[in-house]
Amino acid sequence: MLNFRLVHPEILVDINRIPGLDQIAPQNGGFRIGALTRHRAIETSRAVGEKLPVMLAAAGQVGHLAIRNRGTFGGSLVHADPAAEWPVVVLALDGTITTKSAKGGRTIKARDFFVSYLQSAVEDGEIVTEVTLPGLPARTGWGFEELCRRPGDFAIAAVCALVTLDGGKVKDARISMGGVGPTALRAPDAEALLKGQAITDDLVKRVGEKAGEASDPSNDVHASADFRRHLVGVLTKRAVKAAAQRATA
Ligand SMILES: Cc1cc2nc3c(=O)[nH]c(=O)nc-3n(C[C@H](O)[C@H](O)[C@H](O)COP(=O)(O)OP(=O)(O)OC[C@H]3O[C@@H](n4cnc5c(N)ncnc54)[C@H](O)[C@@H]3O)c2cc1C
Repeated sequence: MLNFRLVHPEILVDINRIPGLDQIAPQNGGFRIGALTRHRAIETSRAVGEKLPVMLAAAGQVGHLAIRNRGTFGGSLVHADPAAEWPVVVLALDGTITTKSAKGGRTIKARDFFVSYLQSAVEDGEIVTEVTLPGLPARTGWGFEELCRRPGDFAIAAVCALVTLDGGKVKDARISMGGVGPTALRAPDAEALLKGQAITDDLVKRVGEKAGEASDPSNDVHASADFRRHLVGVLTKRAVKAAAQRATA
């Protein structure tokens, strides 16, 4: 934002040296991840890879190695770029964002955190300190699919799917999307379509169409809104199939 001359802050506060904000701590099968944790630290965390492998898949798509070495998990969430990977995954994982200010602290559900383009629920005088990601139920598989023009670019569209199976049928499903609206979005009707059903090609196709209907893309220099909506369908099909396969493995 500074580089593009889109923001002109009078004061810049470097929070890099605040101790204790770059920890990845296991908690109840999930994690508490400090706001200053670098993308690369998540990408290379064996513990995160074991419990929440979808995080590693998404991390690997965040910019280039140099970006991942410097950029932070919390910074990406507060920046709230709708085409960024972390908002999509944190929304699917039903994460909770913790903030602190001189007045105290707040916890904000991911679904309430992303307000609009480049706008999060963080207020003046407040910083994000950590993000809590709950563990996933047994027999939950994941899929993360993204299309971008060149490796390292922001997503033209991205979809994250989490599918929990029980006796060959879908017990629970979560689908979130990026690059196709003012914020990362969930696709509740597409999720509902999956619940209680056995995965078939026809069902997955309809789920993709429903997710496309839930998207709210716009035209820009990278892609038209119609193309993005079409992509949501394609990526959702792939992500849901991958998630269901991993849930059975
Ligand atoms: C060339 C390039 C390519 C990129 N490609 C991608 C990509 O493909 N996908 C992707 O997701 N991202 C991408 N990024 C963004 C990158 O992932 C950064 O992580 C992101 O910009 C945030 O950077 P940062 O952590 O240094 O935060 P900053 O840039 O320092 O901060 C971003 C905003 O958040 C605020 N902020 C930061 N931390 C906190 C906090 N703890 N509490 C409150 N407010 C805070 C800052 O005040 C600022 O408004 C790219 C960046 C570049 C430069």
